[in-house]
Amino acid sequence: MGKNNLKFNSKTIHGGQEPDKAYGAVMPPIYQTSTYAQTAPGKHNGYEYSRSANPTRTALEKSLASIENGNYGIAFGSGIAAIDAVIKLLSPGDEVISTSDLYGGSYRLFKQVYEKFGITFHFVDMANVNNIENYVTNNTKLIWVETPTNPMMNIIDIVAASKIAKKHSIPLAVDNTFATPYLQTPLDLGADIVMHSATKYLGGHSDVVMGALIVNDKELAEKLYFIQKASGAICGPMDSFLVLRGIKTLHVRMQRHCENGKAIAYYLKNHPKVEKVFWPGFESSPNYEIAKNQMKDFGGMLSFIPKGANYNDAIEIIKKLQVFTLAESLGGVESLAGHPASMTHASIPKEEREKSGIVDALIRLSIGIEDENDLIEDLEQAIG
Ligand SMILES: *Cc1c(COP(=O)(O)O)cnc(C)c1O
Repeated sequence: MGKNNLKFNSKTIHGGQEPDKAYGAVMPPIYQTSTYAQTAPGKHNGYEYSRSANPTRTALEKSLASIENGNYGIAFGSGIAAIDAVIKLLSPGDEVISTSDLYGGSYRLFKQVYEKFGITFHFVDMANVNNIENYVTNNTKLIWVETPTNPMMNIIDIVAASKIAKKHSIPLAVDNTFATPYLQTPLDLGADIVMHSATKYLGGHSDVVMGALIVNDKELAEKLYFIQKASGAICGPMDSFLVLRGIKTLHVRMQRHCENGKAIAYYLKNHPKVEKVFWPGFESSPNYEIAKNQMKDFGGMLSFIPKGANYNDAIEIIKKLQVFTLAESLGGVESLAGHPASMTHASIPKEEREKSGIVDALIRLSIGIEDENDLIEDLEQAIG
């Protein structure tokens, strides 16, 4: 059957991978080198300088393409560097329509770095994708979707968004960090670009910062490889190795993240001291049907509001947690708790935050793969 049409749970391990040519090493060596010997000027084995390409990074990029059902993977030094490369496809005067409750760092990059270069960003509630149409102009050159959204766990219909994008010939990019290709593969749903913060679930062990883009179109891939090389926001060989290793267990980890996420979502939902839980797997959640159709399961991310809590109450609860670590980031094997208003989303003005539902008392949890009972006991003693 070959390695080309493997199922997802095999692609994570074998996708785009071959034993190393030199000694048959099963894992690609960490090619910790900046340059490569040439036999004559311009004569080399495909590698000249590690900003342009490095064999460990190539192995990772092939794996990324394989798990996202794409043709090309392009790895960067961070998720933000990957987004930055996408925005560099644009020119002054261009407009972008973006999800409104998106990752705080993406918002900061759009508003504080790129607006001054003459690019306009419209932040739109895409829970109803038809809202996108209201902002389409002749200058719209990119639609940016994040789903599930961070931290409100809203679901955006990727197929419906891609229909609007195609109707107006606008490229559609999807930040697939929260879902990972285990849950959804946006290229199959009509997206043109998939973006990852590989720092999160792909790496999966909270030991590396990295980003990635995956595309199908050759011309688009060439433009992005050019930006990767020309702007230079690359990832190193050691980090490439770590994420490649992380991807090999992605499906097993995600399965447990989803199981634990579900257990904790229901525990919190039934807790008398919890006001509201945001998790896309409740039948009562907005866009539940879309979530069920476009995702294989509901993931390990959720947010909640403790009953009657204010800013300080939320912080007090988080400080009491002992198994959950108070930290930014998500998607690692260990459970983390965060306070969006003072941490990940502090760069978004309070007014803008609250429009998206990110109230001061909101607590975000990244559910790890520990024993679910330990996590529930920890929440129990903290919430009281
Ligand atoms: C973390 C994150 C990013 C940014 O990625 P970095 O690796 O931190 O640069 C972008 N989008 C989402 C959804 C994220 O969670």
